[in-house]
Amino acid sequence: MMSKSNFANIIFLSVLSVTLFLVSCSTEEDEKLPPISSSSGASCSTATTTCGGTDNLTNIPSAYLTALTKYTTVNSTYLVNVCTEDTDSDGTADYMVVESSNRPEHKSYYWQATNALYEAFTFATNLYKYAVTKTAAGYTGTPASAGPNMIYEQCITMKMPLTPASASTKSATDFSTMGLALNGVSFFNENAAPPDEITDELFTFDQCSGHPQNTGLYHYHVDPVCLIRDLGGSVTDNSSTVSGTTYSWIEDNGTNGGLLVGFLMDGFPVYGPVGDNHTDSDNASTPSIDEYNGHTHNTTEFTSGTYHYHVKTANIGGTNSTVFWITNAKFYGTPGSVTVR
Ligand SMILES: [Zn+2]
Ligand SMILES: [Zn+2]
Repeated sequence: MMSKSNFANIIFLSVLSVTLFLVSCSTEEDEKLPPISSSSGASCSTATTTCGGTDNLTNIPSAYLTALTKYTTVNSTYLVNVCTEDTDSDGTADYMVVESSNRPEHKSYYWQATNALYEAFTFATNLYKYAVTKTAAGYTGTPASAGPNMIYEQCITMKMPLTPASASTKSATDFSTMGLALNGVSFFNENAAPPDEITDELFTFDQCSGHPQNTGLYHYHVDPVCLIRDLGGSVTDNSSTVSGTTYSWIEDNGTNGGLLVGFLMDGFPVYGPVGDNHTDSDNASTPSIDEYNGHTHNTTEFTSGTYHYHVKTANIGGTNSTVFWITNAKFYGTPGSVTVR
């Protein structure tokens, strides 16, 4: 006959094994989806940051002060920090550093439903928003969200050379963060990691033209229209009515060539797409755009002039004036580094 204590042990072991089974299942889930991190930024340990969770602009070159200060003010929901690093401890700063949790200030379908910035989105909208790309790329899919991916906090550090310069040998951008927008969100290039095609992924973009990859790292491959709007740039509400259903989206007016939107990790700034009449900050005409999609002239933030990129208008198998990729395939300067912890 079974004693009371044996019976209790069996119950205990059964509960334990069910618990272990549940734990192991949720661990598998976690490989695809990281646990929801706190919105306070607490999971980014200050000890592992370069800026220590605060801004220190003391050693930022004066020409960069106006531009880099924007990182500290644009996103009031999720802070972005700017500082410098003296890598070789010789008393002189070596890198300009931008640190963020890679979370936008704007709404997205990809936020957790509990986040105040969550907003529903009809992905079919992208068929009309990217109609020219759809035709040019021969897209025949059904637009939907990027699987279960959501926006999760990242601890991201971008180091840019203190004196950015043209590289004698140009290096390629990768399928990961190549720069940071002024709201602290990652810029990706115009390619998706193989075997995916960016012309398919385009249709998974949210209403602000971004999407997260499988670790929750939200990013822009194209002109960040909601950030452009939030920076005071010129955008239009566009829409298309098909079979009685109206699809609405935010569109860049193409007149934001003078609007700073962020930096690539080689230390050169990125400005909005160039329209027909792109002038410098003194209203003078500008040199033509080079193969890295940049050129040098005075800007509002760099009054003595700087090399800078412009978000580029793409050609995908034909004329395409509705998709503005962030940049070309190569850095103009020598890239610093990006770490995601
Ligand atoms: Zn992507
Ligand atoms: Zn320009």
